Amino acid sequence: MILIQDALVLAPSFEAQPLDVLVDKGTIADVVPRGSVKGEGMERVDAANRALMPGLVNGHNHAQTGLSKGLFDRYNLETYLNAQPGVTGRRTLEDKHLSALIGAAEMVRKGCTAGYDMFGEFPLPTAEGVEAVARAYADAGMRAAIAPMMADRSFYQAIPGLAEALPPELREQALKAKYAPYKETLSSVERVLHDWKHDHDVIRPALGPTIPHHCSDEFLVACRDLAAERGLGLQMHVAESKLQAAVAPKIYGKSLVAHLHELKLLNEKFCVAHGVWLDDDDRKRLADAGASVSHNPGSNLKLGSGIADMRAMLAHGLNVAIGTDGAASSDNLNAFEVMRLACYLSRVKGNPPELWVSAREALRAATEGGARALGFERLGRIEKGWKADLVLLDLGALHYVPLNDLASQIVFGEDGTGVESVMIGGRWVVRDRKLLTVDCEALKRKAEEAVERLRVANAEARALGEKLHPYVGHFCAGLSAR
Ligand SMILES: [Zn+2]
Repeated sequence: MILIQDALVLAPSFEAQPLDVLVDKGTIADVVPRGSVKGEGMERVDAANRALMPGLVNGHNHAQTGLSKGLFDRYNLETYLNAQPGVTGRRTLEDKHLSALIGAAEMVRKGCTAGYDMFGEFPLPTAEGVEAVARAYADAGMRAAIAPMMADRSFYQAIPGLAEALPPELREQALKAKYAPYKETLSSVERVLHDWKHDHDVIRPALGPTIPHHCSDEFLVACRDLAAERGLGLQMHVAESKLQAAVAPKIYGKSLVAHLHELKLLNEKFCVAHGVWLDDDDRKRLADAGASVSHNPGSNLKLGSGIADMRAMLAHGLNVAIGTDGAASSDNLNAFEVMRLACYLSRVKGNPPELWVSAREALRAATEGGARALGFERLGRIEKGWKADLVLLDLGALHYVPLNDLASQIVFGEDGTGVESVMIGGRWVVRDRKLLTVDCEALKRKAEEAVERLRVANAEARALGEKLHPYVGHFCAGLSAR
């Protein structure tokens, strides 16, 4: 039994209250008035001058991008997808583990205790690769939902007219790389599920058919059925870029969400990543199905994807999570930062202040909202019986001086530097600003070695990407503008 005493606790109402928190067997055993627990036989943690908040939940990330930070300035989603094989190719299992571990270590250090990870491998997800990522989360001590990212059409096949617009020689090379047929992909995913070594309440599997038109309808329906059969969550990038929304009527004669609705994919375990270009009908369909959206404002800004309307999502009754996206488009995986951006971006379109996303709404999305999107129960609140995923913030950090309103100062001021300790499932993962689960020096050495080796190994793919870049950029810009 652990007693965290004398902290200022961020209660489920998001008000700061002087309470003591008892933790036992990974769960919050009780929340009681300060000083009311007497007796011995427990570890007492002095949390005076600290705030205790629920750990943040990251609604969307990609483990394979842990080695890609800093590489993609001035890329939009389409030119990034074109360039990405030049970075993520030829990885060993150890590289896949390493890439995931870098991300998990950074998230945990910055107060994020759970995340939805759409992990990509090419040409199909493998049981060994997904396990390498799951093991990385387990090593870091973090909670996660891991969705193997899947497709049965390549980027060049998925966008109508793109392949035809490429010069013949480049077209041939671009079309050479093909995803596995979807039945092979699904039997590989069956193996992932069969071999799963982790407690679903800590690290759970999910499905990630990446983008609607990158998957055939037969594939999407098969994913739907597998998810239903196994009770799995399913996350997809939907209407992330303007191009995705623009091609939907050409391919389906309707919006992406209307198409997914017709295929009966939408339900309470379905999670949209991004949702920048949703309209009210889309939001209503998703809300009626009880689905979630991971709002990823930082990535949407970096890739120039646009501004998702979180207020409209909330107004329709959608469950909203907040995500960073992968380190290629969200280089610092800082869940505090994206929470702040979610607030700020709701204020730039001329909405009256009463429609702006408030600090408390952002906090709810980044905690309970995220937990629901990931499919974890009793996660994201400091309340008796809920999971003990907790963050201690140093109220001596200057963004809390003076302390006027804890919730507001967390959202508008915290940048991760105030995170002093992090507990996940009752276990300290960060203590006194030190990450206890990962040797960051060794991680740095391994990452530098891997990046150097992979840069050489992927030189050819990178060169192809560079040749294709202007054609892809030009064609996709034209398609998006219409
Ligand atoms: Zn993504």
